[in-house]
Formats: sequence, C-alpha cells, structure tokens
Amino acid sequence: MIVNMSEGATEEQIQHVADRIREAGYQAHITRGAQRAIVAAVGSGRRNEIEALQAAPGVEDVVPIAQPFKLVSRQVHPSRTIVNVAGVHIGGPEIVVIAGPCSVESEEQILSTARAVKKAGARMLRGGAYKPRTSPYDFQGLGTEALRLLDRTRKETGLPVVTEVMSTEDVDIICEHADMLQIGARNMQNFALLRALATIRKPIMLKRGPSATVKEWLLAAEYLLAGGNSQVVLCERGIRTFETETRNTLDLAAVALAKELSHLPVIADPSHGTGRPSLIPPMARAAVALGADGLMIEVHPCPERALSDGPQSLTFEGFERMMSGLQEPLHRVALAAATAS
Ligand code: PEP
Ligand code: MN
Repeated sequence: MIVNMSEGATEEQIQHVADRIREAGYQAHITRGAQRAIVAAVGSGRRNEIEALQAAPGVEDVVPIAQPFKLVSRQVHPSRTIVNVAGVHIGGPEIVVIAGPCSVESEEQILSTARAVKKAGARMLRGGAYKPRTSPYDFQGLGTEALRLLDRTRKETGLPVVTEVMSTEDVDIICEHADMLQIGARNMQNFALLRALATIRKPIMLKRGPSATVKEWLLAAEYLLAGGNSQVVLCERGIRTFETETRNTLDLAAVALAKELSHLPVIADPSHGTGRPSLIPPMARAAVALGADGLMIEVHPCPERALSDGPQSLTFEGFERMMSGLQEPLHRVALAAATAS
C-alpha cells in the first residue's frame, strides 16, 4: 500500500505515518518528491490498519501498489534514480557507454582496449574475471589475476570498472577491486546472490535472464532494493526466441517498458543481444533513440584471438565508428526539419 502525503504535510506527520506502518507489521519506505512525500508499506502486515491511515493528519490518500515489484515501481518512486558509479552517473542526461572485452585476458589486452574505448568516448570499462561459460571446457576467466589487471587499468585510465560476480563467495574480493558488480543473465534469479549483493555498498548491474519476463526481471531487482541496495542499473541483453540468425533477440520494447514501470536506469547490451558485430551499431542507435540510459559493448583488440565472445566483439575501429554513428538519428531528424522549412 502507498500512503500519499498531502502537499503541506509536516515531517512529524510523515514520521507518524511511517511509525504506524511499522506497527502494522510492514516496512516503511519514505520517498520525498519536490512537492510531496510518499510512504510505502512494503512486506506483509495488517492491511486494514494501513487503510485506516486515510484518517491520519497530513494524509491525502491511501492506495494499493499496483505492481508486485514495489520499491522498483515508479508509483513508489516517481522521480528517476541516478546511479553513481565512481563519479559516472547512469540515468541522468548523459548516455553512458560501457565498453571492453568479454574477458580480461592479459595486461596488454585490457590496457590497450581501455585506452581505445576511452578515446572513442566510453565512460566505463567492462571485463570479465569470472566467466559463466556454457561448456566447462571453455575459458573460465583469470579470476583474481584479472581483478588485479582491472585495478591497474582503472588507475591508469580513470575509467570505473564493472565485472561479473557469479558466486556469493567472491563478493568480498570483487568489491575490493570493482566499482560496479554485474549479475549475469544466468544468475538473475540466483536469490542467494541477490540477497548478498543487496547488503553491499557498490552499484549493481542486473542483466535480464535469457528467458525471464520483464516482471521477473524487475522482481529480481526488488530483492536488491528490499535488502537495502537501491543503486541498481537494469541491462537488457537479449532473450531466447525461435530466431536462430541472431544469438539472442534484443528486446528493445523491454527497455522502454522497464523505464515506464520502474525508476531505475536501463541500458542495452546489443553485443550479447545480437551476437553479430554488423547489428551492434544499428541496435545501439535504436536503443539510444528509445531512451536507454546507456550501452554495454564488447570490444577486443583482435576478435579472432579472443578467448570468449570473439565473434560478437567489435574492433577498436568498429567501436569508434559505432560511437560516431550514435549521433546519426538526431542528425537525420535535424536534417529533415531543415529540409522541410
Ligand atoms: C558478459 O557480459 O560477458 C556475459 C556473460 O553476459 P550475459 O550474462 O548477458 O550472458
Ligand atoms: Mn561476453
């Protein structure tokens, strides 16, 4: 349930409502907007006691929360969340491009990639240290050695780093080295991992599972917010469909829908979403045009030698071209307007 406070409600009245919500067995979450505050009753408790708050001083109305993902929903938090990753703001006016190799493979590989993507306009570096691979015989990542290389690369380039965490055991060590932790698609519903990451003080990138509905994705994010971590960025990375020409089907409608339903920033990953370098620039442009807050792109100095996801990796030149192409839809609209006048 949501208790909408009236415009002139005092701090005392807001706190009184929050206390009454807790007495009724719920958690109370206060969101302060420019005009008014909202106090959400989340969890399970005595609903009739919340409905009765209609009569409390400073209360405008009491309404049910329409969605099962309560704290993630825009009803509870109408203004957009901006996630701060070591000074890079995701969810604000800037489109944040995160780029780098699928896996960290060597010092030379990660450093040269970081320098190249930074020069082309990327604001964050990605690189896997612990890799979820379909086959146990494939490269599994360099682990702690990769974390050390990511550290060194951040020091040299200043780019904040995001890397995947696959197990609760690795949370502490990854927190020591990364600026943001990625929950990979295969782990979107690893509830033990979600609970562990809800308690840390680092931002999280939550990828959508390959067969997860938008509702399931947002409920996975709800675990993080309900456990105390509200610094969450959602990442659409493609879902499994009947189509076999692309690695996954990048569901851009889900990007727009997640932004409509939730206040969290949403980015798109056209690398895993298509698996084809030729489709990455057009899908990146489409994602930006429809309101994505950022992009995650795999880049490798020599894709044919990559130890993972080489076939979908952009070269440095390919990435640079993709970055300049991001302006294209806007130019074309401006051009059409100029021609019309
Ligand atoms: C990755 O980012 O390299 C990765 C493994 O992503 P996903 O979890 O989306 O497959
Ligand atoms: Mn990859």
